[in-house]
Amino acid sequence: MQPTVSSLEKHQTFRFTCSPDVTCFNACCRNLNQALTPYDVLCLKQFLEMSSGDFLNRYTEESTGPGTGLPVVSLRFSDADDLACPFVTDAGCRVYPARPASCRTYPLARGVSRDRKTGRLTEHWALIREPHCLGFTNGQRQAVDEWVDSQQIATHNHMNDKMLELISLKNRFRPGPLRPSERKRVYTALYDLDTFRNDPYYRDSNVATTADIQPLDRSRTGDLDLLIVAMDWVRKNLLIVSPEKA
Ligand code: SF4
Ligand code: SF4
Repeated sequence: MQPTVSSLEKHQTFRFTCSPDVTCFNACCRNLNQALTPYDVLCLKQFLEMSSGDFLNRYTEESTGPGTGLPVVSLRFSDADDLACPFVTDAGCRVYPARPASCRTYPLARGVSRDRKTGRLTEHWALIREPHCLGFTNGQRQAVDEWVDSQQIATHNHMNDKMLELISLKNRFRPGPLRPSERKRVYTALYDLDTFRNDPYYRDSNVATTADIQPLDRSRTGDLDLLIVAMDWVRKNLLIVSPEKA
């Protein structure tokens, strides 16, 4: 059976509860294609107390978005038949406090649209009912915004909206594939934040001397602020300048 997807407004309610008591416990942590956003990577590498480079090497694989030409980072799932997430255990998710945005949002999915005139973003929500998920049976009734609050997704959504803005700029100013060297720099800046922080190429590149970035001392800047700098670096250096200058 296929999942059913239905749109919901933020005030509308749905019935859902997930706990270790459900007989489908952990069923949703297998056989997935789990793309990670730059902020997901930041949270996971911090939680696991790893450098971003070690985290990426150990837990992820890289591909290229067919529509955007931008790097896509996904969790590397087990080679065994059940294609388990590397973080699922019999007791549940071992990175639960740092789980990715899509895991937090499930069984909802979030989309955004931008008003062309005002630039304002509007959120859209959908409820996904998958046949294997028993959380809808006898689940607690709650509104979409109550669920969103309970899952602590606000910063994820804020950072993911910034990433969507970057993707939109890429599609507008640099449609099609990036050159391999550019693609590598985008990957490093957005996902390998510790290299972006320490590697002299990124540390000393021209964006660091512009007025809006200069006050940030990268050796002391927190990861979240640095990710915002990195997004700005990508925007200014790679996406909206001519390829000759990149
Ligand atoms: S109830 Fe749904 S979300 Fe919870 S473990 Fe089962 S399949 Fe996963
Ligand atoms: S990160 Fe956690 S919640 Fe998300 S798929 Fe993996 S084990 Fe499940």
